[in-house]
Amino acid sequence: MEGGGPKTYDLIIIGGGPAGLTAGLYASRARLSTLLIESGLLGGTMTTTELIENYPGFPQGITGADLSQLMEDQARRFGLTVINEEVSKVSTEENKRVVRTSESNYYSEALIISTGTEYRRLEIPGEETYIGKGVSFCATCDGAFFKDSRIVVVGGGDSALTEGLFLTKFAKEVTIIHRRDALRATRIYQERAFANPKIKFLWNSLVEEIKGGKTVQSIVVRDVKTNETKEVETEGVFLFVGVSPKTQFVRGFVKMDEGGHILTNENCETSVEGIFAAGDCRQKLLRQIVTAVGDGATAAFGAERYLEKRR
Ligand code: NAP
Repeated sequence: MEGGGPKTYDLIIIGGGPAGLTAGLYASRARLSTLLIESGLLGGTMTTTELIENYPGFPQGITGADLSQLMEDQARRFGLTVINEEVSKVSTEENKRVVRTSESNYYSEALIISTGTEYRRLEIPGEETYIGKGVSFCATCDGAFFKDSRIVVVGGGDSALTEGLFLTKFAKEVTIIHRRDALRATRIYQERAFANPKIKFLWNSLVEEIKGGKTVQSIVVRDVKTNETKEVETEGVFLFVGVSPKTQFVRGFVKMDEGGHILTNENCETSVEGIFAAGDCRQKLLRQIVTAVGDGATAAFGAERYLEKRR
């Protein structure tokens, strides 16, 4: 507490993935009093990625867990304060930003939203029932439970292919089920998946139901060309059908697109002065760690300039 009231930070960063941690690093080095609020693990989605091969500086690749730890260490080294709480709402009070969590209210002049994304659900019968009982959104977390099993991966993007490839370390057969007959994933992942004898493809197919007893036993799949359905036996269902931005808590406060991605200009400035968005939660073309860290630096620099103008 300062002067009897709650402490007001120069900057609060919501979300501690690569964008948030980089913003924290830049803001701390600019000597802004900065609080980073993260509800889960620092590093965000990056922590659950087995091997990152497209982040420059690591020619042999680096695990998501290691890269997260390095980014955290680097940001903390320059004095970043981090707390582990979930933000429920953001508002403005007498020219200050108020960030509400389950524990407290935090105040700042500038704000960076870098909350990233979460895996989308299929919203089909059985999906919710079997989460943790055969349905998973994280190959790194759950892959080892499926040793010598037959499993399916749903989706045709980078996540489906990288996670599917990783799962072949454990499973005896991985079937990638995609709703079209062409993959969206980066070419190098496609080449590796096509060359992997443990990976099979089920094209033009939609999963409509997940069935089982105590754990998953089968799925109902519909061929979108013939409209025929069939039941496919499987012990595990890994869902990678895209991501949704975690921006519910600022809905109505900053402008967003229909999908909930925060709209910004190229300087990561949102529709509200002094509030910036960085990383996968904002509307942008390429969602990668390398673009998230660029956003984090840009947003922190913008926050620094905004604070200078106000003083
Ligand atoms: P994504 O690129 O949006 O791909 C989602 C996939 O799921 C698409 O193939 C899509 O099919 C399919 N899909 C969507 N809704 C579906 C539904 N209701 N039923 C069946 N299939 C459905 O998502 P992502 O793979 O999670 O990747 C998210 C972002 O992270 C991307 O920008 C990606 O490049 C990035 N990422 C990068 C890496 C890497 O570079 N190593 C790794 C993972 C993720 P359609 O193709 O028909 O639309």
